[in-house]
Amino acid sequence: MNTSENELVFLPLGGSNEIGMNFNLYGFGPPHARKWIIVDIGVTFGDQTTPGVDIIMPDPSFIEQHRKDILAIVLTHAHEDHIGAIGWLWPRLKAPVYATPFTAFLVREKLRDADLLDKVKITEIPLSGQFDIGPFHIELVTLTHSIPEPNGMAITTPLGTILHTGDWKIDPDPLLGEPTDITALKRIGDKGVLAMVCDSTNVFQEGSAGSEADVGVALEQLIGTLKGKVAVGCFASNVARMSSVIRAAEKAGRRVCLLGRSMHRMAAAARSVGLLTDCKPFVNDQEANSFPKSKILYLCTGSQGESRAALSRIAEGNHPHISLGEGDACVFSSRVIPGNEIPIRNLQNRLAGRGVRLYSDRDHPGIHVSGHPCRDELAQMYQWARPQIAIPTHGERRHLLEHLAFARELQTPQAVAPKNGDMVRLAPGRAEIIDEVVSGRLFLDGGVLTPENSDPLRERRHAAANGVLIVAVTLDKKNKLAADVEVRGIGLPGDEDYPLSDAFDDLAEDAEDAIANMAAEARSDDRSVQQAVGRTLKKTAQRIWERRPVVETVVVRL
Ligand SMILES: [Zn+2]
Ligand SMILES: [Zn+2]
Repeated sequence: MNTSENELVFLPLGGSNEIGMNFNLYGFGPPHARKWIIVDIGVTFGDQTTPGVDIIMPDPSFIEQHRKDILAIVLTHAHEDHIGAIGWLWPRLKAPVYATPFTAFLVREKLRDADLLDKVKITEIPLSGQFDIGPFHIELVTLTHSIPEPNGMAITTPLGTILHTGDWKIDPDPLLGEPTDITALKRIGDKGVLAMVCDSTNVFQEGSAGSEADVGVALEQLIGTLKGKVAVGCFASNVARMSSVIRAAEKAGRRVCLLGRSMHRMAAAARSVGLLTDCKPFVNDQEANSFPKSKILYLCTGSQGESRAALSRIAEGNHPHISLGEGDACVFSSRVIPGNEIPIRNLQNRLAGRGVRLYSDRDHPGIHVSGHPCRDELAQMYQWARPQIAIPTHGERRHLLEHLAFARELQTPQAVAPKNGDMVRLAPGRAEIIDEVVSGRLFLDGGVLTPENSDPLRERRHAAANGVLIVAVTLDKKNKLAADVEVRGIGLPGDEDYPLSDAFDDLAEDAEDAIANMAAEARSDDRSVQQAVGRTLKKTAQRIWERRPVVETVVVRL
């Protein structure tokens, strides 16, 4: 191929190995001078395997090297897995941001938290709006999902049109916002779609996801039967769901109290675009206490068992104002996100232990529906768009490959399932993976962005499982021991037969022997002393506890 020839490429740096941290790149131009747009810039969340790391985001190193060629960051919708990384990664990318008003409101909040609000140019695009960014013409297509303003994008270039669906389902009655813009999808399909980059989350589910309107009815029926205080846990971003809960509460003669920062933030974002304006004012958590039990409903964050969220604090009994107990109810209008099974089970056991009755969609089908397309909906979308190339995204490997097979079943001429970092040439020629670039994940460890599985995290995991030994070695000017070696431990067990103090004494003696056996010259080097002590104490620890703790040796020289 002529190297000066224009190419159209798709490159996911996130969202194609996992459900979460969506970060998609589209490039146009000759290989040495591509112009890029970034679609979405999301995070995913840590779990028990990443102690101390709550937030994980894509590694943008590849596109950071081409920073001057990034024309824009365009956002499909305001879920964390699509916008959550903007405050952390924007300084490395420095591109203008395009979003619809609800998404823009929440992005501004994030940028304010990151002290970037005055640095980032945000262009608000109206729903169904169209705009040009270099060689890319973008038309937003209103879809339905589980948050206000979910947009698909028809991205037209001189080499063809890509339909980037973002997250969607086909909800005939989404309660808030417009239904799926079928007219636009058909029109775009009629003009010809080169490639469709499409949501794979529910590809294993037959049928359809179901409608928010039906959830509204189910919640109204359930909440109408409840007697004591009622707490409802749901995703704050699902404003239609919030609205259904509020309506159900008002029908049951209850006032609503929002609990959790993101509930308040989402309510403010919703009001900024004219949603949630026809309900009674919310009661604050102090006022709520003065209401009779049957007159109040708490709308809470924390349905995934997040330890600092409202529901967990209530379950632990350490919420400053709110308590639930015998005769009260907690409704989970949410699904279990894979990976959160254990914290959710713990949360539910604690609430049950307080006498709270639990309701979830396992025992009350209909009080939750997914926001992602099941197979019937996917088939419908393929029928509308009729893409030449199917590119599954928003899934783990198993989702993407199932989606690939499904697209082939639906007679899509070509289908490619890139992993994060795989660059797919969409045109000219047949679609194929032409390059593999640096990709990976960054961990927000405390407040510091670190490479995935960095040494500190590995050490922390090792220490969590095996404990820590701290050793103090004091050497004089001749590199001889000037005092007894001191050993302390963290997280190591002792018993009556062999108390910890005896274990530490034995370890100290072994350390002293190890130092005595070193050549005098080696003792002048701190690192050599640390290594000798570490090696010896790991062996001794293995004998005492049948495990090898982290050994931290401090050498003090007089
Ligand atoms: Zn998503
Ligand atoms: Zn979403």
